[in-house]
Amino acid sequence: MKTTIKCAFCSGTGKDPYDLLSPISHCLVCSGTGLIETEKPFKICVFCGGSGKNPLGARVPCIVCGGAGINHSANSVPCLQCKGTGKSTDGLPCTMCKGKGFN
Ligand SMILES: [Zn+2]
Ligand SMILES: [Zn+2]
Ligand SMILES: [Zn+2]
Repeated sequence: MKTTIKCAFCSGTGKDPYDLLSPISHCLVCSGTGLIETEKPFKICVFCGGSGKNPLGARVPCIVCGGAGINHSANSVPCLQCKGTGKSTDGLPCTMCKGKGFN
């Protein structure tokens, strides 16, 4: 089922939250619309906590959810390797679930 959510990376503003290019540069995740069309069901991305921002520090969208703040979760079961946190011991995305926290 298609649904539309607010873009997590720019908080729905449609602007690049880091002003990397210029203050009026468009958010690269939603192309400036502030919205993302996606499919249900989905879960809040555990790797970025739903912020859409890369928790590893670089000023780029979350490498797990691509900046949307959510991951598709059809038939999802909690990941045994990371216990649902999406992170491996070194802080990088879990290799088994790719950082989603479920498989
Ligand atoms: Zn956006
Ligand atoms: Zn994420
Ligand atoms: Zn995992």
